[in-house]
Amino acid sequence: MMQQELTGTGLRGPFPLAPDAIEEELVDKCPGAYALGFIDHLGRFSITYVGSAGEDLKSQLRSHIGTAAQFKFRHFAEQRQAFEKECEMFHQFMPTGNFLHPSRPHGADWTCPRCRK
Ligand SMILES: [Zn+2]
Repeated sequence: MMQQELTGTGLRGPFPLAPDAIEEELVDKCPGAYALGFIDHLGRFSITYVGSAGEDLKSQLRSHIGTAAQFKFRHFAEQRQAFEKECEMFHQFMPTGNFLHPSRPHGADWTCPRCRK
């Protein structure tokens, strides 16, 4: 059985990044944060990309199908929580696929909890 939470993301998963798993695991039109990656040779979830969705995490994950083998996610009630989770994971894991610091949505004055950007 696959071990979970070895990376300490606080996210659920990993699940295959495929239509069936996304449909089964995610709620429609709900904010959330996610990590994409793969299971390495030691059985750990290795993160290649992190992101968040302010309105519809399910649709956003669908758009990533084909770019990674697996995903983890967590739904949040508030957009801001999803953004802050994305920032925390960006600083903690420095994924190879994230070239830039997460940007806050237009009109929001939130700051990153780690670096105050
Ligand atoms: Zn930051």
